[in-house]
Order: sequence, then structure tokens, then C-alpha cells
Amino acid sequence: MVKVTVNKAKCIGSGDCVETAPKVFAFDDKGKSEVIDAAGSDDRVIVSAARSCPVKAITVVDEAGQQLFPPPRP
Ligand code: SF4
Repeated sequence: MVKVTVNKAKCIGSGDCVETAPKVFAFDDKGKSEVIDAAGSDDRVIVSAARSCPVKAITVVDEAGQQLFPPPRP
């Protein structure tokens, strides 16, 4: 299972992640996205949700601790 975090300070509530992976992300009472179930969707779907975020507020790290998104700097 991947580790997913939403930086709420960055999130602008666009809803892209919620639309792409509704079992993983949901809005909190302030209209910011939060992770409700990191195992709610396939890892690839979660990465694509992170990619869809217009402000890059979502970070995805795999089991081995490698960052899948945003791509780690070389
Ligand atoms: S896609 Fe990004 S900005 Fe939009 S709700 Fe999700 S975390 Fe927030």
C-alpha cells in the first residue's frame, strides 16, 4: 500500500483528486481534500490523482519509501 498525503495548506479544493479516486480522497468540512483510505484504489489511480492536482498538493510514496509523485529530483 502506498502512503498518500495531502498538503492542505496548498490544496485549493479543485476536486480533481476526489473525482479521480473518490474512495481515497474526500473533502473535509473546510473544502480541502484529505485521505480517507490509502488502500481505496489501485496505486496507479492514486498516482494519477496526484498528477491531476493543479497545485501539486498530493505526495505519494511507495512501500519501499520511494517517492512516486511528485517525481523525486535526480
Ligand atoms: S486535486 Fe489538489 S487542489 Fe484539488 S482537491 Fe485535490 S488536493 Fe486539493
